[in-house]
Amino acid sequence: MKTASRYDVVIAGAGPAGLVSALNLTGHGYRIALIDKSAYPREKTCGDALSGKALAVLKRLPGGIYHDFLNIPRKTPSTGIRFVSPAGTVLDLPFPEIGSQDPPGYLIKRSIFDHFLLEKVKHCRDIDVFESRRIDDVILDSEGVVIHCEGSVVRCSVVVGADGAHSMIARKLTTIRNTHRQHSTGIRAYYQDVAPGAPTGFIELHFLKEILPGYLWIFPMAEGQFNVGLGVQSSWLKKSGVNLPRWTDQLISDNSWLSDRFAQSKRVTGWEGWGLPMDYPKRKVAGERFLLCGDAAGLVDPFSGEGIGNAMFSGEMAARHILRCLQINDFSVPSMNPYVQELHKSLDRELRTSRIMQKLAYSASLFNFVTSRATRNEKIRKMMMAMYTDMDVKSELTRPGFYFRLLFG
Ligand SMILES: Cc1cc2nc3c(=O)[nH]c(=O)nc-3n(C[C@H](O)[C@H](O)[C@H](O)COP(=O)(O)OP(=O)(O)OC[C@H]3O[C@@H](n4cnc5c(N)ncnc54)[C@H](O)[C@@H]3O)c2cc1C
Repeated sequence: MKTASRYDVVIAGAGPAGLVSALNLTGHGYRIALIDKSAYPREKTCGDALSGKALAVLKRLPGGIYHDFLNIPRKTPSTGIRFVSPAGTVLDLPFPEIGSQDPPGYLIKRSIFDHFLLEKVKHCRDIDVFESRRIDDVILDSEGVVIHCEGSVVRCSVVVGADGAHSMIARKLTTIRNTHRQHSTGIRAYYQDVAPGAPTGFIELHFLKEILPGYLWIFPMAEGQFNVGLGVQSSWLKKSGVNLPRWTDQLISDNSWLSDRFAQSKRVTGWEGWGLPMDYPKRKVAGERFLLCGDAAGLVDPFSGEGIGNAMFSGEMAARHILRCLQINDFSVPSMNPYVQELHKSLDRELRTSRIMQKLAYSASLFNFVTSRATRNEKIRKMMMAMYTDMDVKSELTRPGFYFRLLFG
């Protein structure tokens, strides 16, 4: 490591969770290290869709970062969602107009977005950034946390595990087991020249019967590219033994409304795959001298597969609790526990609802019924839309009244 190897906080991983955590820890008089195994700008296998939740955290970051984000040229505002049911029924849900400067979501390559935030962190004088440094081991001793990093040893009072879906920090400091049942696998590739299907700026979710409760997505990116991908349950993938990239190519060519759109297209990258951990709240997310956030805490939404928003949200929350622990110099389990409690209070209801929606999405006939009902009923359409933009409305799904309105509304 290039500088002193004693820090107050080490953040493992410079994805959205770690970066937001760093940007909220700066300026309080503590010494912080942010360590990532990659050299930036780096790719991260993702759909590249930033939701309203991610933007809300971005807006709260200090130093006008959101304003600078708005000036990044290579991003696309998302203007609505197109659902395609297993029977092929199309449902277009335009996002409500909030003003041209403030759309509810954006599509931006992770290589650009994460690099943008990392550059902001590099301007913080109290944070040392280490790229291309893999953390190999983490142990607790009587004086604090000891991190082994490619032959060097770094010490700190507390570590933030923001090292993603295959978190080393989670594996070493908790008894985590990767349960395939609450885990999905996704692949994505970038395409050029996909024929337009949905209105401009719409993200498309194709719920093909073969992959329920997963879906195939087509997201419009800047410079005429499309992020195309597919997410399935890891348990199904393991059982079926299919080759996901080959199978996805086959699915596209077997569905006439997709194959027409891809007929003149060109895949400009290979298929890349990665995991989506969804097992929160089963995971232990904090303990003596550590907190986990983002994918390391299993915070991906089980229905939508969205994880950037919760990664940023939990990174922000982790920073607040670490500052509290640093002030009282107490990193014991009881001192870390308020993070666990606040995370539960903020996310449990929302993620429980998503789990219910994921279960409902197993049924192609139910999916077809809801979609065709929504094409004819403005109220249901508005409710479905609000479920994507308003978490309170999403919780409606846990109430019996929702189903009454769905059937008879
Ligand atoms: C195919 C696919 C599509 C997706 N689409 C979307 C989407 O459209 N919208 C959305 O919101 N979410 C999406 N997600 C989920 C989203 O990508 C993640 O939830 C999000 O990246 C989590 O952020 P994070 O900071 O927790 O982890 P990550 O972004 O994974 O960052 C972790 C960082 O830790 C580093 N690291 C890992 N191990 C070590 C180590 N040992 N030492 C040092 N550094 C280490 C990595 O290099 C990485 O930079 C998708 C996921 C997949 C797989």
